[in-house]
Amino acid sequence: MTSGLFESYTLERIHWVSLYLGLPSVGLDTTFPTEAACEARLYQVRWPDGPVCPRCFHQNVNFLDLRKLQVCRKCKKQFSLKSGTELHGSHRGLKFYFGLAEEIIQYRQRNDMPTLRMLQDKHGMAYATAIKLRSKLSADLAKFHGGLLGRCICVIFPRLPQDMVFGTDTHLLLLEREMQRRRWRELGIE
Ligand SMILES: [Zn+2]
Repeated sequence: MTSGLFESYTLERIHWVSLYLGLPSVGLDTTFPTEAACEARLYQVRWPDGPVCPRCFHQNVNFLDLRKLQVCRKCKKQFSLKSGTELHGSHRGLKFYFGLAEEIIQYRQRNDMPTLRMLQDKHGMAYATAIKLRSKLSADLAKFHGGLLGRCICVIFPRLPQDMVFGTDTHLLLLEREMQRRRWRELGIE
């Protein structure tokens, strides 16, 4: 069964397993331990060549402080690291979103979904917030390469044979083998 966001079950599996394999093996908390580390990562993923004005695409000088608004020198539009992204306007920090996204990927990889009860208890969310965030984040993460959030937290890219055709059963099989290898490594078998 697919969630309706993917054309086929194979593509859906490939998507979630790829994201799962992309998560830092030492854990997200070690890789991005602070809010500042998460902000630096978002900056790097969003603007690999330096900030770009979301209105006129003028390339601005670098942000001196990632938390402050930047003013476009050309069109005077004010923008921030998060403005124009799905992370804009949320009072919870990036670290929270990174963590929740990691959790959702771990569940989706097993064809599962964190329960609303679990989200409420673990993160102290209201029921309505849990419903909203779970559906918003799952939809964002279902985008190409996991969307902005997925691209922020996935740092490993499994090496796949060059002649492999994307989206095929062979592709999925290779990813599942890689998962198996990782499990063995974690257990110290390999
Ligand atoms: Zn501008």
